[in-house]
Amino acid sequence: MRILLAGAVGRLAGLAAVAAVVSGVGRGALSAQQDMSDVEITTIPIESDLFMLMGRGGNIGLSVGEDGAFLIDDQFAPLTEKILAAVAEVTDQPVRWVLNTHWHGDHTGGNENLVNAGGLIVAHRMVYRLLNPAEFADLVGRSGQAPRAALPVVTFDEGVQFHWNGRHIDVTHIGRAHTDGDAIVHFPRANVFHMGDTFFHGRYPFVDMDSGGGVDGVIAAANFVLERSNEGTRIIPGHGDLASPEHLRQYRDMLETVRMRVASLVANGRTEDQVVAAAPTADLDETWGANSERFVRAVYQSLSGGME
Ligand SMILES: [Zn+2]
Repeated sequence: MRILLAGAVGRLAGLAAVAAVVSGVGRGALSAQQDMSDVEITTIPIESDLFMLMGRGGNIGLSVGEDGAFLIDDQFAPLTEKILAAVAEVTDQPVRWVLNTHWHGDHTGGNENLVNAGGLIVAHRMVYRLLNPAEFADLVGRSGQAPRAALPVVTFDEGVQFHWNGRHIDVTHIGRAHTDGDAIVHFPRANVFHMGDTFFHGRYPFVDMDSGGGVDGVIAAANFVLERSNEGTRIIPGHGDLASPEHLRQYRDMLETVRMRVASLVANGRTEDQVVAAAPTADLDETWGANSERFVRAVYQSLSGGME
């Protein structure tokens, strides 16, 4: 890394600027957050120019090439310096694009730092809204206001295509899934997807009902990717290890099973608490984790229109 940096004076200046931002502005927020000084960024090669980065928070996708680095999600602000160092290990080009798969802070926390380092933020229209509630009357009082520099400067509704680093990159919005602003990223030639938090590998999903999520959208997202997958497909989940279509299929089947069970309890007139008490995931918890109540409540609310 040092050798790469020494040869790239411009990059070094960019990193120094980021370091200044992190140490200056970030200090207050840092003390309020978890200490991230011990977090290491692990780079998992997928193709020679395509990587998954794991640190803390949502998994990062990285495409590199002569046009510049294209990043999918950026974890937390205190990690930006380490993320840029990991990027510099595999390319001498700066980060030019940052695609946010959704608005959550463990996927967008590095936005401001990366803009200051020369990146442009792209995301679904709802990401702009939820990161910038002050601008929208219906979101008044909602927390999560991001600094102006952290906001997307390009937004899309249905999807957007990038033609970058010799690749076509297809970005598709899946309505009301993990949130109401999720994007799924597809690198067709590499046969690679980044699913954001529509896919928690090996765990029950978090469906953010307060941000317009819904279980049917999470199932739709899994089906969208499975329909475009074959045996060689590799899938970057929002959280968890790099996955295969078989992992995603098991996840989709689990989602459908829980949905079906909760739907039949709802059809029998059970309240939300009664559905939870009926333990519709009892035989699944060993595989998918003990944190099922939050998911069951989200499924119930999805099926009953969000009202008790
Ligand atoms: Zn999320």
